[in-house]
Amino acid sequence: MGQSIWEVYAVRYAHHHRMARENFLGGDVHDGPMPIDYFVWAVRCEGRVFVIDTGFDEAMALKRGRTIVHNVGAGLRAIGIDPAQVEDVLITHMHYDHCGNHALFPKARYHLQDREMFFSTGRCMCHPHLQFPFDEEDVVAMVRRVFHGRVVFHDGDEEIAPGLSLHRVGGHSMGLQMVRVNTRRGWVVLASDATHFYANIERGLAYPIVYNVADVLEGYKRAYALASSPGHVVPGHDPLVLERYPSAAPELKGWIARLD
Ligand SMILES: [Zn+2]
Ligand SMILES: [Zn+2]
Repeated sequence: MGQSIWEVYAVRYAHHHRMARENFLGGDVHDGPMPIDYFVWAVRCEGRVFVIDTGFDEAMALKRGRTIVHNVGAGLRAIGIDPAQVEDVLITHMHYDHCGNHALFPKARYHLQDREMFFSTGRCMCHPHLQFPFDEEDVVAMVRRVFHGRVVFHDGDEEIAPGLSLHRVGGHSMGLQMVRVNTRRGWVVLASDATHFYANIERGLAYPIVYNVADVLEGYKRAYALASSPGHVVPGHDPLVLERYPSAAPELKGWIARLD
């Protein structure tokens, strides 16, 4: 079967200043400023669109002390995607920065790993330390979508369209999944929080928010194995993504990159 060739976009929506030691489990001997960016992603092929993650809104930015640069809706509209018409959203995991903006995608089905729902609604959430990156309202909103027939559950690795597949990694969150997509330059892996920064995967060091360190490290191997080259793995939060890839249009520099 022929594989579809997809366009792939990284849409930056928020920013947060921090130090390098905050980005590595066990700290960083080379400490210094190491800010973090927040992205959603979109893939498109012959009119079919999948949005990957939904980001957070202004209220959540305020609550968590983050700064929204361009809201998610504006970013998607800038590349010709009307959020109100999106039919499929792939949720890499349910941390607050990946599954908010609840009203933005009224028509969408949400694709999620079984284990992420299990994790975010079960006994692990009794521990404040594990609960911290989740928001109660995000989790409740996802449960409501289940009752409205708007969640598609996945278990492990699944192809969801020709040249587009989901791959469960776990590690950072119990049901974290990556997205692999076929492009004109080969297989791109949207790692999301399977690696926050290039430095996490390159140095073999986990990010401090973690469910299972072994699965994080196995996830690094998996990401490299699924991608056409190490340079085809796109980290979930690295400002370098906007430097290493061309902008989708001259006026979108520093905002939206073209990853394919
Ligand atoms: Zn996360
Ligand atoms: Zn994240």
